[in-house]
Amino acid sequence: MERSIRWAGRCLNAATRDDQARFAIVQGGLDTELRIQCATELSSMNFEGFAVGGLSVGEAPSEMYRITEATCPHLPEHKPRYLMGVGRPIDLLESVDRGIDLFDCVMPTRNGRNAMAFTDRGNVKIRNAKYREETRPLDEHCPCLACRHSLGYLRHLFVAKEMLGPILLTIHNLTYYQRVMAEARQAIESDTFAQYVSDKKAGWGIVDESDANVG
Ligand SMILES: [Zn+2]
Repeated sequence: MERSIRWAGRCLNAATRDDQARFAIVQGGLDTELRIQCATELSSMNFEGFAVGGLSVGEAPSEMYRITEATCPHLPEHKPRYLMGVGRPIDLLESVDRGIDLFDCVMPTRNGRNAMAFTDRGNVKIRNAKYREETRPLDEHCPCLACRHSLGYLRHLFVAKEMLGPILLTIHNLTYYQRVMAEARQAIESDTFAQYVSDKKAGWGIVDESDANVG
């Protein structure tokens, strides 16, 4: 953590371009005191944004939420906060609830390539035999290219090892993640975020956050 803080200072001093934004990275593992100390020291430096690093590396979701919740109040209120490497749709919403603005994650694309789709009714495993003759799309309300086709056809593409399958499912999952974030922004603006999260959880079949399942 101390090394990260020294790096941050050196990065600011080494900056030569005005067209690049620099994000400091808060470290400190699962130790609340270290996280707060790190966030406080980095916040005194003039970064354009702040990242929370070292999470989503195998710890329980409840631990990640605990550290995010402890860290965010010690970051500047009017600069973006970025939670690195997160996560499942439920993690996005739980983290937004705790003050995070930005995310990056391999999950929508990697899971898409591996025949797993994210939907409002939870995760769908495309290869499942029960979808063999399914004529409805994966998600009737999704505007993406994959959802113009039947679920049975998507399954066929994976079974036949057609590259179009992973391509279409990647597009679907990215569309889904973008939709969840857009809906979350709308819900925050209309002051209905808590209800939105609880509706989403009900659809995903999540009773509480410790119950969240990658599937
Ligand atoms: Zn879709």
